[in-house]
Amino acid sequence: MERTRESISVFDIFKIGVGPSSSHTMGPWRAAQRFLNRARRDGWFDRIQSVHVDLFGSLAKTGRGHGTDIAVMLGLMDADVEAIDTTTIPGIISEIKSKQVLRVGGTREVPFTPMTHIGFHVTKTHPGHPNALTFRAQLEGGEEMQGTFFSVGGGFVVSEEQDEPIARQQVQLPFPIELAADALRYCEEKGTNLPTLVMQNELAWRTMPEIRERLRRIASTMFECVWRGAHTEGILPGGLNVKRRAAAMNQALVPGGPTDYEGWLAALRSIGTGFSENLQAVSMFALAVNEENAAFGRVVTAPTNGAAGVIPAVLLYMFAVMEPEPADPWRACEEFLLVAGEVGSLFKKGATISAAMGGCQAEIGVSSAMAAAGLAHVRGATAAQCMMAAEIAMEHHLGMTCDPIGGLVQVPCIERNTMGAIKAINAAEIAIISDPAAARVSLDDVISTMWQTALDMSEKYKETSEGGLAVRIPVIVPEC
Ligand code: SF4
Repeated sequence: MERTRESISVFDIFKIGVGPSSSHTMGPWRAAQRFLNRARRDGWFDRIQSVHVDLFGSLAKTGRGHGTDIAVMLGLMDADVEAIDTTTIPGIISEIKSKQVLRVGGTREVPFTPMTHIGFHVTKTHPGHPNALTFRAQLEGGEEMQGTFFSVGGGFVVSEEQDEPIARQQVQLPFPIELAADALRYCEEKGTNLPTLVMQNELAWRTMPEIRERLRRIASTMFECVWRGAHTEGILPGGLNVKRRAAAMNQALVPGGPTDYEGWLAALRSIGTGFSENLQAVSMFALAVNEENAAFGRVVTAPTNGAAGVIPAVLLYMFAVMEPEPADPWRACEEFLLVAGEVGSLFKKGATISAAMGGCQAEIGVSSAMAAAGLAHVRGATAAQCMMAAEIAMEHHLGMTCDPIGGLVQVPCIERNTMGAIKAINAAEIAIISDPAAARVSLDDVISTMWQTALDMSEKYKETSEGGLAVRIPVIVPEC
C-alpha cells in the first residue's frame, strides 16, 4: 500500500498547506475533500443529512495533537488548504462547536458536534494502513455512504476503493527514475546535471514558465514562513506550554533589524559568516518554520509538515547567508528544489516518507537528505556527489524514532528540524570534497536500509506517542 511506483512530480513533494502535520492534518483534509468529490460525482451530495468520521491507528492516537479533527472539519467544508487564511481557523472551529452545525461542501448545513461526530478509535488499527479514516454520510431516505482513505505520508492520500482517476500515474516521463542509479545513468548518458534532468520530467506535466513560477512560489512561501516565525512570540497551542524561541534568536542575530520582509531578507546578509553565526542562523530558520507549523500556520510540506523546517532553513542559508553567495540566488533556489524534490520522490518510491510507517527517519531523515543534495548541487557538486550528500545525511538518521510528546508536533519535532538542517549542510560539505566512486554505501543502499529499518521498528515509535519521550513526559491534550 505505502510504496508506490507512480510518477511523482516535484510539486507532489512540495505542497503549500497548513500545519502541523502532513499525514495527520493535510492528508485527512484532502481525504475529506475526496469524499466530497465522490458525493458530487455520484450524485448524492444534496441528500447528505449528517456526516461521521472515524479515525483509526496513529490518526486516532495522535490525531488530537496533530489537529486531525480540525482538518477533517475544514476538509468537509471544502476549505482550500493552500489558500485559507490560517488566522481564521480558530474562529471557524469555535463557530462549528458553538452552533453545532457544519457547512458540508461550504453550502449544505448539517448538525455536527465534534465530540460525537468524530470518533478517535485508539484501540483499532485498519489492516490497510496505520493512518486510516472512514467517512460515513447519512442520506435522506436512510441510506448511508462510506469511504475509507489512507493518509500515506507527505499529504498523499489513497482511497481504499481505489476509485480515483489514474491519469496522473499514466504520465509518460522521458526519464523514468525509480532509483538514484537511474538518475545518475541518465545524467551520464546525456551529459547533463540533475536539475536539468528533473526539469525534463517535470515538462511532462507543466510548461517551463509554469514550473519556474511554481518553484519560486514554493521558495517564497518557505521564506515568508521563516519571516513570520522569526517575528512571532508567545506560547504554542496544544497545552504543552512550549515557548516560541525563533523571534528572540532573530533579534539577537539581526538586532533592531528591519521589520518588513524584504528588508529582513537583505539584513540576513549582515549576520556574518562565522561558524557560530551560521549555526545560529540556520537553527533560527528551522525553529521559525516549525513554530509556525505547530501553530497551524502556512507551511510547505517538505516532504512532510513535521519536517517542514529543514529545507527552508538550508535554502534560506544558501539564499541569504552562505558565502560565496550564488550568482543568481532565485535560479539557485529553483535548481535546489528540483534536486531536493527528486531525492524526496526516491525515498517515497523506495521506502516511505510517513512517520507512521517508518518513524522520524522518514521525516527529518528524508528532508535532511533532500536538503543535502540540493545544497550540494548549488555548491557545485556533480550529480554523483549530490546523491552522495543525500546518502550521508540519511545514513546518520537511520533508526530515528517518532515519539512526539502529547502527540503534538512540538517536542522533539521543532528542535529536530535544526539538527536535520545542520546535518544536511555537513553532508553536502563532505560530499563536495569526496569521490563518490570510492563510497562504500550508495543512496539506493541507504534507501533500502531505511525501509528495512522501518519494517523492523517497534510500532510504538511510529507516530503513536506510545514510546520514547512521549511516555517519559506524558501530557493530556485537550479535547477538540
Ligand atoms: S518526532 Fe519526527 S516524525 Fe514524529 S511527529 Fe515529530 S518530526 Fe514528525
